[in-house]
Amino acid sequence: MDKNFQEEFTQIIKFNPPLYKQRHQFVKDLVEKYKPKKVADLGCADCSLLRMLKFCSCIEVLAGLDICADVMKEKMYTLSPLPVDYLQPSERSLTVTLHHGSVAHKDPCMLGFDLVTCIELIEHLEEPELKKFPEVVFGFMAPRMVVISTPNSEFNPLLPGVMLYRHPDHKFEWNQAQFQSWALETARCYDYSVEFTGVGQPPTGMEKAGFCTQIGIFVRKYSQTGESVQCEKPTEAVYKTVFKAVYPSLKDEKYLQNAVISEVIFTAQIIKHRLISKHAEYGDDPERKSKFQPSMDCFTNYLGKVVVEKNMEPFVSGNEVYIPLATIFSFPKVNRLCGTFEKLCKLIAGKVTLSSDGSAVMFNIEHENEEN
Ligand code: SAH
Repeated sequence: MDKNFQEEFTQIIKFNPPLYKQRHQFVKDLVEKYKPKKVADLGCADCSLLRMLKFCSCIEVLAGLDICADVMKEKMYTLSPLPVDYLQPSERSLTVTLHHGSVAHKDPCMLGFDLVTCIELIEHLEEPELKKFPEVVFGFMAPRMVVISTPNSEFNPLLPGVMLYRHPDHKFEWNQAQFQSWALETARCYDYSVEFTGVGQPPTGMEKAGFCTQIGIFVRKYSQTGESVQCEKPTEAVYKTVFKAVYPSLKDEKYLQNAVISEVIFTAQIIKHRLISKHAEYGDDPERKSKFQPSMDCFTNYLGKVVVEKNMEPFVSGNEVYIPLATIFSFPKVNRLCGTFEKLCKLIAGKVTLSSDGSAVMFNIEHENEEN
């Protein structure tokens, strides 16, 4: 490498966005492309990658592992659900768990994952740990995909102030040939394919140095089901769970019921409101009623379209308004939440006031009449 050229660059190389963000964004993009349901981050440190991944809607199980419990505990509560998660539970389920332990040990809690990420981890491993690492990750955990990133030592001369390694805790830093031969051998041994890429582009004219962070993407060549993995590999638990958060989800009947009740009451209230205004305007005069021109708001238009059958028409009787459940069920949000009419009936039973035959939501409008 030309010394002058190199010196010039060491003064100006500054990644934007910072390299750690580029690494995490790389993983996020991969998650959005392949949509894994279960993701484990080994060497998760302060959980910053996990915090980013919890917003990927395909993920239902997120796990972190680190040998240093203190660094994980520092910000682990930022992985807890927020009040808004309870107010508006998501349709997907999400469980986030943090484990204290080493990637040199096998634990059954790491079985059945679709994606395992090891971002800037391997260079922190002592030699005996690095030796065990492939058997634990590729042999035992055996996820569908593994992503491993590590510094590319060929880039180091371009980084200001790097003497031996980029971080005092690094046990080694590999050049591209070293990483690729280790990765290819690991892939061969455990029946994976591997492709190489990276983040942190080298400056123009220095392309030979390669990416600042080198990345291997490993894909398992054989298929296996989650259940068979767990049965075939009985192992004692050795990791300690230090954190677990189960996010409120509509998959949980308790949250689904609350959401359905609110949506049913909300929908019924709007229909009732439209009906009362119409009733007050036209009374029971059939001639005037037939001349009724629906207002142009989309809700009324929609209601006009769905109320095609007689038994779906809301009506007023004395001080009571009846909104048929069939009408409420035909509204997209209620329909999507419940799936079937039977489920709607089951979820609101005893929670919403219904007509005596149970076919309509009933409101007493005595006070509203008084106000009018
Ligand atoms: N992955 C993180 C941080 C990497 S730093 C990120 O992307 O920012 C490496 C992390 O690996 C440290 O938190 C360290 O405690 C952890 N680590 C080191 N040896 C380990 C081992 N044997 N098992 C699990 N984690 C380990």
